[in-house]
Amino acid sequence: MRAAERRPTTTVLIGDVPVGSQHPVVVQSMTNTDTADADATALQVARLAHAGSELVRVTVNNDEAAQAVPVIREKLDRLGVDVPIIGDFHYNGHLLLTKYPACAEALAKYRINPGNVGGRHRDDNFARIIEVAVANARPVRIGVNWGSLDQNLLTAMMDANAAQPEPKESREVMIEAMVASALRSAQLAEECGQPHDRILLSAKVSGVQDLVEVYTRLAARCDYPLHLGLTEAGMGSRGIISSTAALAIMLQRGIGDTIRVSLTPAPGGDRTEEVEIAQQVLQSLGLRSFAPQVSACPGCGRTTSSFFQEMARDIQGYLREQMPVWRQTHPGVEELRVAVMGCVVNGPGESKHADIGISLPGTFEEPVAPVFIDGEKVTTLRGDDIVPRFLRILDEYVEGRFPLPGAVSAAAAGVPDAAEPAGMTGKNN
Ligand code: SF4
Repeated sequence: MRAAERRPTTTVLIGDVPVGSQHPVVVQSMTNTDTADADATALQVARLAHAGSELVRVTVNNDEAAQAVPVIREKLDRLGVDVPIIGDFHYNGHLLLTKYPACAEALAKYRINPGNVGGRHRDDNFARIIEVAVANARPVRIGVNWGSLDQNLLTAMMDANAAQPEPKESREVMIEAMVASALRSAQLAEECGQPHDRILLSAKVSGVQDLVEVYTRLAARCDYPLHLGLTEAGMGSRGIISSTAALAIMLQRGIGDTIRVSLTPAPGGDRTEEVEIAQQVLQSLGLRSFAPQVSACPGCGRTTSSFFQEMARDIQGYLREQMPVWRQTHPGVEELRVAVMGCVVNGPGESKHADIGISLPGTFEEPVAPVFIDGEKVTTLRGDDIVPRFLRILDEYVEGRFPLPGAVSAAAAGVPDAAEPAGMTGKNN
């Protein structure tokens, strides 16, 4: 089974990153540094970009942050990091974007929350942001959030609902208010001169079923690209699982053009985790490939040592380390499938299904580890250095299978076989 065709949308160019149904689903993330600290923020943006974030959002909440934005852009350019930066505005975006034109210019997109652009002057403030977007030819994301939903709109809709002979449940009205808020604001943006193809929408909630409902309705009523994500997903496995469940349902239906996994990091935790998870969701669904996949069995009583767990971890880590270089030197390597299995029960079978696999010995099995390439056993490793030797075989395989177009592979150039000295390497040892 495959994911449904993507819902047809316009294409919005954010910097030089196209977002919309004609293009791969884009991974994005957001910094958690103080934007006014240009050094720390530029460093975190660079890390997120290095991890694979194709767009990075920073909060722009005060004068200092707005002044820092062009400095951050400059620092990134000097580092050779060209990832577009998106400005996240609440309450005072109309003031900051007009007071600091260099900030408006340095940002590739502005996120507007229609729920907090300002009480009585809401539409005027909104229009001022759009004026800046039009003047700078920048796209905007109209980002509704259920925690800061436009209270005037919600109250009016609740009152209208209460007056009905058979009022709907308040959840139903809330979901409809989110959709209405996003669509009304998009219409207002267009009336203010923002081109149709410079608008994206989001309507974030923190419950999976609510997200499915609100995005399904939004998708049916417009052709703007949708930024998909569960807000306040939480920490650790709860946040990862809730986000994955929500994103997977929508992406499988062809809905969602850019995604963010909003995890609360552990104190001192690595912000790039959210990028890795977003990539993993897309790769698990077969929508994009970012890094070679390592299949490893869960282990059981047949393999009581932790050796194969450590090996799976080491191989996964090795692949991740190589990817920034391999992406350039071995195009297509992200499609590679590696298997690391714990014993003879499923080891050889699973390894044969991978591009390259190793079946480690279980408890009481003969201490040998057959290696399979493209479904064929090519060698058997034994001894204390199984991991480095397997990695050398893996390197050779990557060299041979994913050469730079026109390049002569190391294998073809006669690089010696790293697996074993004579007698250990040939097929079906
Ligand atoms: S491959 Fe072997 S060790 Fe791994 S889960 Fe299956 S039976 Fe257990």
